[in-house]
Amino acid sequence: MKIHEFQARALLCGADIPVPDGEMVTTVDDAVSAAEQLLTESPPVIVVKAQVHAGGRGKAGFVKVVKTLDEVREAAEFMLGNRMVSPQTPPAGLEVDRLLIAAGVDIEREIYLAITTDRGRRTNTLIASAEGGVEIEQVAEERPEAILTIPMHPLDGLCPFQARDLAFALGLKGKQVRQFTTLAINLANLFLETDASIAEINPLVITPACDAYPDGQVIAIDAKFNFDDNAMFRQQSIAALFDPKEEDPDEMRAHDAGLSFVALEGDIGCLVNGAGLAMSTMDIIKLHGGEPANFLDVGGDASQEAVTEAFRIILGEESVKGVLVNIFGGIMQCDRIARAIVAAAEEVGFKVPLIVRLEGTNVDAARAVLAEAQERLPTMRTATDLGDAARQVCAAVG
Ligand code: GDP
Ligand code: MG
Repeated sequence: MKIHEFQARALLCGADIPVPDGEMVTTVDDAVSAAEQLLTESPPVIVVKAQVHAGGRGKAGFVKVVKTLDEVREAAEFMLGNRMVSPQTPPAGLEVDRLLIAAGVDIEREIYLAITTDRGRRTNTLIASAEGGVEIEQVAEERPEAILTIPMHPLDGLCPFQARDLAFALGLKGKQVRQFTTLAINLANLFLETDASIAEINPLVITPACDAYPDGQVIAIDAKFNFDDNAMFRQQSIAALFDPKEEDPDEMRAHDAGLSFVALEGDIGCLVNGAGLAMSTMDIIKLHGGEPANFLDVGGDASQEAVTEAFRIILGEESVKGVLVNIFGGIMQCDRIARAIVAAAEEVGFKVPLIVRLEGTNVDAARAVLAEAQERLPTMRTATDLGDAARQVCAAVG
């Protein structure tokens, strides 16, 4: 589960990690009045930031550092009136309907700091770089040695000596070291306490020296958190931050029907029982030159309602030019699923080619059900095996 930056900043604040003041707003006028409040403080710099579940906002023009209320208004109008397109969004971009108006800070250095699970090492791991900021992906690609990783102890978490070593490796000096060490340990604890899967601060900044902070201050000015969906039952306060508006509407519908569905870019809709079978179905479609329009697992014991909803979702996509149903009846009896397919196809109304491949328990009875329904579903074809099914559906969509 993902959350917005303004929500992530609140979590950081709660964990005693320094974050500039800010307010979430949904209109241009509210953006201006929030900025007015913040401008009473010094330095007179405001950051206007689109709140969407995707990064790369800075480069896309959806993070603006400004100095006047007119500029705040202009930035807010632009962000609320345009879709944000970045390498992390779908090609059509994302609609922006929330903004964060935050106090700006002067920046001396930008550092990257994140925690995630390293599955290879089987530990939660800190990832850090002295070269944080909007180019971090390029740094990681071109100079992987500029990225430092520190495994966290499974029971002790992040040890103070590790955090201190990291501070020195990042080139921090004087009082910055203590600030960073406390911050990193607080972040590690927050990561564990909230069942996070990613906690990322990019950039973590060092501000220029001032009277109150002769070595500058270490502050988080961006934050991204993802959480383990399977832990949300024990993370009520995190689960409450869920924003359905940021999710793909079809994926939400599928989720509500107990299906796991991921929309993809191709034109062949897939309806499959079992995640592994769904993956191999997608592979075999690609092997025959086709492109799957979705990943859809109706589960091992899909009901007729679930299958019907699955058809509705698949056929609701305009891009779908053909559908491949691939069911292996293990626990599931093929004749039951065949009846569900026929009922669902009749209810939803089919125009595109529908290729059905069934195998397993009661397959003969299932074939009889499909043969009987053939006249009512003229675009339906049965396949002898998965290779045949993939060939047929790829040929049908051209
Ligand atoms: P992202 O592009 O989605 O990761 O958005 P960020 O919040 O990380 O902002 C992108 C970049 O904008 C940062 O790396 C900074 O260089 C700049 N930026 C963001 N906030 C401030 C600020 O308060 N002051 C200054 N000077 N620059 C900022
Ligand atoms: Mg960032």
